[in-house]
Amino acid sequence: MNRKVRVRFAPSPTGPLHIGGVRTALYNYLFARKHGGDMILRIEDTDSNRFVPGAEEYINEALAWLGIGIDEGVKEGGAYGPYKQSERRDIYREHVKMLLDNGKAYIAFDTPAELEAKRAEISNFQYDASTRMSMRNSLTLPKEEVEKLIADGNQYVVRFKIEPGRNVEVNDLLRGKVTINSSVLDDKVIYKSADDLPTYHLANIVDDHLMEVSHVIRGEEWLPSAPLHVLLYEAFGWSDTAPQFVHLPLLLKPDGKGKLSKRDGDRLGFPVFPLEWHPEGGEISSGYRESGYLPEAVVNFLALLGWNPGDDTEIMSMDELVAKFDFAHCSRSGAKFDFEKGRWFNHEYLQKMPDEELAQLFKPVLAAHDINPDNYSDEFLARAVALVKGRIYFVKDLWDQTKFFFTAPTEYNPKDIKKRWSEDTPRIMTELIDVINGIEDFSSAAAEPIVLGWIADKGYHLGNVMNAFRLAVVGECKGPHMFDITELLGKEETIKRLQRAINEISI
Ligand code: GLU
Repeated sequence: MNRKVRVRFAPSPTGPLHIGGVRTALYNYLFARKHGGDMILRIEDTDSNRFVPGAEEYINEALAWLGIGIDEGVKEGGAYGPYKQSERRDIYREHVKMLLDNGKAYIAFDTPAELEAKRAEISNFQYDASTRMSMRNSLTLPKEEVEKLIADGNQYVVRFKIEPGRNVEVNDLLRGKVTINSSVLDDKVIYKSADDLPTYHLANIVDDHLMEVSHVIRGEEWLPSAPLHVLLYEAFGWSDTAPQFVHLPLLLKPDGKGKLSKRDGDRLGFPVFPLEWHPEGGEISSGYRESGYLPEAVVNFLALLGWNPGDDTEIMSMDELVAKFDFAHCSRSGAKFDFEKGRWFNHEYLQKMPDEELAQLFKPVLAAHDINPDNYSDEFLARAVALVKGRIYFVKDLWDQTKFFFTAPTEYNPKDIKKRWSEDTPRIMTELIDVINGIEDFSSAAAEPIVLGWIADKGYHLGNVMNAFRLAVVGECKGPHMFDITELLGKEETIKRLQRAINEISI
């Protein structure tokens, strides 16, 4: 069947969006874009007990940060709204009635205590064809009594009546045909009078139908619900237009077996949420954004957790991902969450970024270290950043790599002193000051041969002299090429630092 591609990301606002949920949203987005389709964001808030304030805003903010665009949704509007399930009660009520009227569902009055008693009485109790006729419901009670119970304000639920002994086929794009016997399914609650809301199952499939969703792309954890969904489509007479299922493989722990959890992140030191999450009165959870990841790097990293482009290309922009994305290259088995690879992607994206842009991102980091970035030209910052960016994974790493450009050392690494500073060194450094004073063009290219020539003429030890020089200027024997450093610092500052080290370092 040739129908317009329409996909939906349908999170429940029960907390911060997990990184696995972000990948689901991303795959929906890539698939929609690739096929010129629509991407819907539907908020599934029918479980009022699990509603968490701020979660919906969090979802919007996270998707916007990552560049996962939404065509239809609560904020965006669209022709199939409302896009928040709690605003669709009338629609669900009408659909529940349709199933009651055609005998596919029934009303049940069993109280929690009665259900508990049944569970105690019958081991492995399941509300289904084998037990429903011994329960308090509209199949066992006279019609008048059912009406009276409702009129008297008794709470009830509506259950979907599963016919036992049927083979239910679930067609999944990644997994092929999965057949299960309907006898293992229970008569799921699809509506609760207590809050006048449907449960996930009913609301989800009614909305997928009414919103003309063509592909249901979601996490593997929803696969067990799929047979029930197939039966619901059938009960409504919608099987012909039922969406194609795609259940994505789980994200797995970086080490060991099992599903990735928040605890793995805490244990191994990586975020499992796109943005920082501040629960009311609870502990803050770290996010990719606040940890210094670039959204493009996170998108690229996530795209490759369960999919590949068919070759070994790794760095891909959103547009390239859209162009290459397909389910043929999606894996069926779980994808290990290799967070080191995530860091690597961030490193790569920082290398691709123009120095001027990186310098702008560095400004707040400088300010946080009490350096006023306005005291430095954009050109100076860009040049400093260019010298060290090959060594950084995050923008914040730039501080450690460049701090000596902004503050002259006041302390000198003791180990380096021991190794590189001897009795002779102050005299040699004083000579070096003279040499430097005589250099007119202090650019790296011009100064280097002069200083190296002097070392050779004097027969000094190259490593010792250059490391003592570095110790004096940087404070330790680390950093980029020495003459690139001095070029940026300038002649005057270089000499000042040499003089200070001569005065300060004692052995
Ligand atoms: N509301 C479900 C969730 O929180 C949606 C599952 C689905 O996509 O069908 O993930």
